[in-house]
Amino acid sequence: MRTVEEYFGENVFNESVMKSRLPKEAYKAVKEAIDHGKRLTPDVAGVIANEMKQWAIEKGATHYTHWFQPLTGITAEKHDSFIAPQDDGKVIMHFSGKELIQGEPDASSFPSGGIRATFEARGYTAWDPTSFAFIKDGVLCIPTAFCSYNGEALDKKTPLLRSMEAINKQALRIMKIFGKDDVTSIRTTVGPEQEYFLIDKKMYDQRKDLIYTGRTLFGALPPKGQQMEDHYFGVIKPRVQAFMKDLNEELWKLGILATTEHNEVAPAQHELAPIFTTTNIAADHNQLTMEIMQKVARKHDLVCLLHEKPFEGVNGSGKHNNWSISTDTGINLLDPGDTPRANASFLLFLTAVISAVDTYQDLLRLSVASAGNDHRLGANEAPPAIISIFLGSELTEILDSIVEDRPYGSKEKEIMKIGVHVLPRFPKDTTDRNRTSPFAFTGNKFEFRMLGSAASIALANTVLNAAVAEVLSNFADKLEGVSDFESALHDLIKSEITAHQRVLFNGNGYDDSWVAEAEKRGLSNYKTLPDAVKHYLDPKNVELFTKHNVYSEVEMKSRHEIFLEKYCKLLNIEYQTMSVMAKQDILPAVSAYSAELASDIAAIESAGGSADFEKETFAEISADMNAANKSLKALNKLIGELDAIDDYEVLADKIKDEMIPAMDALRANCDKLELETAAEYWPFPTYGELLFGVR
Ligand code: ADP
Ligand code: MG
Repeated sequence: MRTVEEYFGENVFNESVMKSRLPKEAYKAVKEAIDHGKRLTPDVAGVIANEMKQWAIEKGATHYTHWFQPLTGITAEKHDSFIAPQDDGKVIMHFSGKELIQGEPDASSFPSGGIRATFEARGYTAWDPTSFAFIKDGVLCIPTAFCSYNGEALDKKTPLLRSMEAINKQALRIMKIFGKDDVTSIRTTVGPEQEYFLIDKKMYDQRKDLIYTGRTLFGALPPKGQQMEDHYFGVIKPRVQAFMKDLNEELWKLGILATTEHNEVAPAQHELAPIFTTTNIAADHNQLTMEIMQKVARKHDLVCLLHEKPFEGVNGSGKHNNWSISTDTGINLLDPGDTPRANASFLLFLTAVISAVDTYQDLLRLSVASAGNDHRLGANEAPPAIISIFLGSELTEILDSIVEDRPYGSKEKEIMKIGVHVLPRFPKDTTDRNRTSPFAFTGNKFEFRMLGSAASIALANTVLNAAVAEVLSNFADKLEGVSDFESALHDLIKSEITAHQRVLFNGNGYDDSWVAEAEKRGLSNYKTLPDAVKHYLDPKNVELFTKHNVYSEVEMKSRHEIFLEKYCKLLNIEYQTMSVMAKQDILPAVSAYSAELASDIAAIESAGGSADFEKETFAEISADMNAANKSLKALNKLIGELDAIDDYEVLADKIKDEMIPAMDALRANCDKLELETAAEYWPFPTYGELLFGVR
């Protein structure tokens, strides 16, 4: 048997493979491209392509693809084989530098939010050498960015890379101010914790809602849900264990640092966390992880549900985005450090994050908005839709003492001077206790906890990077060239914390009183995607992204359109599916049962019995069938009205205000009927069967 050390990363054309296989000059050029964004010459690209092909063929690959992340939210690939026909009827395996660097997929069927008129089908993909090529199912996958012919980004990766460049540039200015001239590049790092559900494939196949929408649209809660909280960190069942083992192996072969696995709070819910890495690679790896989870599950006759809310009344799934900033010299800029100097730089970066999160709370909220995540945020199982920051009591007290110019702690007599005094150490456990905060400082990084389980992490990190870059650029403007650096730094931190203190909150984020308190503080609370998207194009947001070249205004408008389009299309599938299931599955099943009750009543009574149970149940069901039928008709009428609307903005609001309540009403009727109908009549597996069916 092979050890993990032997096969880890074996399907990745990574630095060590390049180092051992490429000529020295070519390797140096790729390193420059990876570390400092230098362009590769066509000659060098040709050399790399040839070696990459050779390596891939040795590993059994026959095809290659430019692998990219269009705005659909999933990854896309179109396979081309390496074969090139020869005069003698044979083929050779061919792959050129041009094919490595640039591709031209037919872009017309990917969402573009109106950027690319459909007659202009061309778009192109460009190799991103900072993310390594890999082999998946016999195909050499080359991570690429995807752009329109005019250079507008049609994907999620391009803006993410641009945001990394923006924060790199501004953070380097700050490093210079601190005299850290040895730092030449700064990257943000991310470790996303991924939650998911595993259910039995045979049961999944019987539910149209799961098949079409990834979540259950009907289903009454079983007597046992998650009340006992006995699933969290519980012993992992053998079938799930076998799945996890296979999954780890597949991920490790792709160089993905999957490391933690455990059961989550809800029955059938689990989590996988990787060791953190550079943000764009973390984004690629998270996409791959989600894809491979689903694939490996199928091999085990399981289905992996990545939807944010597969089951009503049971916790949904999120993705905790652990985020920090690191220098190429190995310093984590959000680590407090031990010296006054390190403390001072830490406090400045901490302040920058606080200021950025407060100023761009609307964008951060939108970056995690989706039809699926609307079910979670604010539902007392996930943070509220309000953005706030948890710092823990120690750090909060230090910031307070700076703001109020008073001594920190009870023992210290002297007022703490930034850059002169050493901060106390904050042990991790005092910073990690609060699990209800949407944005928590956890010792040496921030944990953004609002992300949905199904979404790419690219957007949330694009916003975070860009917002912090903007604040750092303002800080650098103020600090560059000042004569008394220590006091300028102190004043800056003091005024920034004073201005943004409202976003700091150490209390219970699930508490209702927080909602009222947050409103008093002027924090925004956008409960749904349609609410949040209305602020996307606010001037301050356009200014942020255009100033730092993260999105052009045209690109922003296209994203605005796609947010709404995607929301409406997803909901459209959901309400159509509900209508079909109610009409074709649920009501006919209940009708059959009530017909049986009717004949039973007649039979029992003619035999001299009393048929109390049958008569009472029959009456209950008749009344509830009527109610369900009415709700179904109302839903169908609304579907007709919505079909006539073609402005996505209007449609999204109408869905949110009218359709979702109509869906909830139909569901409530049907879930009640489920509890009244004999189990053998129910047309598909129930919550109890789905949640406890994997043994
Ligand atoms: P918890 O469940 O307590 O939140 P985990 O250990 O499951 O903690 O997850 C922590 C995640 O944070 C891991 O993915 C880890 O690699 C990541 N992480 C640790 N340090 C950093 C850092 N400097 N930058 C980004 N992510 C980090
Ligand atoms: Mg976490």
